[in-house]
Amino acid sequence: MNSSRLVKTLQTFSAFLILFLGPLFSVNAQTSDELEDSFEASRPLETQEFTELTEISDDLYMFRFWVYRTIFLVTDAGVIVADPISPQAAGILMEEIRNITDQPIKYVVYSHEHWDHAAGGQIFKDAGAEFIAQENCVDFFRERPNPLVVMPDITFNDFYELTLGGKTIELQYFGRNHGNCLVTMRLPEERLIFIVDIVTPKRLPFRGLPDFWPEDWIRTLREIEQLEFDGVIPGHGPDDEPAVAARSSVREQREFLEDLMSAVKEIYDTGVYDPQVLGDRLELPKYSDWRGYEWLPLNAERIRHYYHLGW
Ligand SMILES: [Zn+2]
Repeated sequence: MNSSRLVKTLQTFSAFLILFLGPLFSVNAQTSDELEDSFEASRPLETQEFTELTEISDDLYMFRFWVYRTIFLVTDAGVIVADPISPQAAGILMEEIRNITDQPIKYVVYSHEHWDHAAGGQIFKDAGAEFIAQENCVDFFRERPNPLVVMPDITFNDFYELTLGGKTIELQYFGRNHGNCLVTMRLPEERLIFIVDIVTPKRLPFRGLPDFWPEDWIRTLREIEQLEFDGVIPGHGPDDEPAVAARSSVREQREFLEDLMSAVKEIYDTGVYDPQVLGDRLELPKYSDWRGYEWLPLNAERIRHYYHLGW
């Protein structure tokens, strides 16, 4: 990071329930209005959270909302925004962008289909932005309609070079890994890559690895390791984590997964099939200083299923 302008805004909001409980209730049984009401109803918690804006390089910014992170790129022809995160986040993000530039919001790019990153884009749609996503996201959004998620206008399969005002973001799809339409966003000029959910530096994978495909995840990380970049902007991280992590964080994430899988397999192969017993027995002391180490038994349970079910 060559320059850093850090703007911290103390916000009072109640995103917690919306972000985490939102995806848990059955969508198909509800109409859009009911769903919207449910989101509204799930806001009683008063929590204080930080949002944070970091200037990473000329015209590239990281915006953090609680533990969620997104980026935006300002060009002479308009602004490109990555995940809107949620209606609250997108509203604050829009204000932050307007404090920096009057350029129009031209594009919103989804990292993947999950609502906790893709919701809240309407404010940018209303401002005229076109939405871009890997094509598999469309099926997910059609099957699980969410009034808070704007449908993509532009879709692609493997690769999409997004250029605007002389700047470039390369969107790349690696097949299934987490969800089924996750893309990385590489900025060749800045030598940075924005990676959501499949690389979170020095943190264990989230709890029970929701919608992660372990084998494909490792394969994808190997492919990302072949790309040219010097730093990673992760899609998650608390306030004390920097906006840009070392390139090595991709390899470290892969090595953790490989260590996790082989350690689980070793215990499993001794005849320990009970997830609880297996999780209690597993230790990976090499990673005991990583955030979320207490999730290790949950990680182990997911990997136990991989060996027991073949999934
Ligand atoms: Zn996700």
